[in-house]
Amino acid sequence: MKITDVEVVYLKLPTIDASKCDGTQDTLMIRIHTDEGISGIGEIDSSPAVARAVVEASASHSIAIGLKELLLGEDPFDIERLWHKMFQGTLYFGRSGPALHAMSGIDIALWDIIGKATGRTAAQMLGGVYRDKVKAYASLLMPDTIKEAAALAERYIGLGYQAIKFGWGPFGKDDKFDVEAIRTLRTVIGDDVDLMIDIGHTWDAQQAIRMSRKFEEFNVFWIEEPLPPDDHAGYAALADASDIYIAAGEQESGRLAYERLIRDAHLDILQPDLGRCGGLTEAKKIAYMAYDKNKKVVPHAFKTGILVAASTQFVASMPHGFLLEYTVSESTLARHLVRNPVKFENGYVHLPDRPGLGIEIDPEVEAKYKA
Ligand code: MG
Repeated sequence: MKITDVEVVYLKLPTIDASKCDGTQDTLMIRIHTDEGISGIGEIDSSPAVARAVVEASASHSIAIGLKELLLGEDPFDIERLWHKMFQGTLYFGRSGPALHAMSGIDIALWDIIGKATGRTAAQMLGGVYRDKVKAYASLLMPDTIKEAAALAERYIGLGYQAIKFGWGPFGKDDKFDVEAIRTLRTVIGDDVDLMIDIGHTWDAQQAIRMSRKFEEFNVFWIEEPLPPDDHAGYAALADASDIYIAAGEQESGRLAYERLIRDAHLDILQPDLGRCGGLTEAKKIAYMAYDKNKKVVPHAFKTGILVAASTQFVASMPHGFLLEYTVSESTLARHLVRNPVKFENGYVHLPDRPGLGIEIDPEVEAKYKA
């Protein structure tokens, strides 16, 4: 089998509100075609225009080559060698950031091809299925008021979610607001639902330690990204001082970055995004590295049903997989780009039994939102 084309599809809603940290307003889809008529789908979470350039760039010299040029004519089954070829071929502008993001979408599409060609799920091809359903947490942006948040929490608990996260928006700017929000949310969702909070990089270590002590009484399951991504010393001080799990990692790409998050930042929970960290191939290495250190991995995912499917395949095939992020964004791209999304029921997503990622793109949605 040979790769004949790497198609990049930029999809976006008619208007984008860039003041919100909402990644479901646009996306960059990858479709890899082969000479045997099988094509694979992947998704990139990056700046779409920047990541597209990484794929389509013409060669400049031996370590500055666009990904498409590196892949044409290659066998998709050579997935490890192709990852290495892409990493080496983009070394001059890559090693992390947009080059790894673009590689991620391509890697997901290659796993989709391999699954389809063998008639097996991506999870089976990643090494085997540990569980065929995975707890999915409702992931919401924090609205401006606690009242609105309480109403949303009630709604999603009513839909069966057993774990919920609110993030960004007003969080991290007013200690009293944050504590009151957590107190109210805990009351609304009851004692048995996991509650997580995503602060969005606004604190320093001392403030985070103080706040984590206040959150302990409300049994917060994790505090996410309270500090800037590079404040490893701050994270280490916080994680050492707090009984609440400290989570981060959606900003990183490549396994060496996650090794640093464990070694230097003492994180409890790593959150690689499959559309950013280097794809399923790299995420598997990150997951086993974390497993060996007895650390948890919960993939970040705030895009479309493509990333939900990839994340479900990933968590199903990891020995310590137990949870995934499930955006409840009402964006048409998040809800309808995939025609047959991963099934959600009573707080769990179910691993599809169809080959590859197990999903199909709705051609009408693709055509309508193609930028
Ligand atoms: Mg986050």
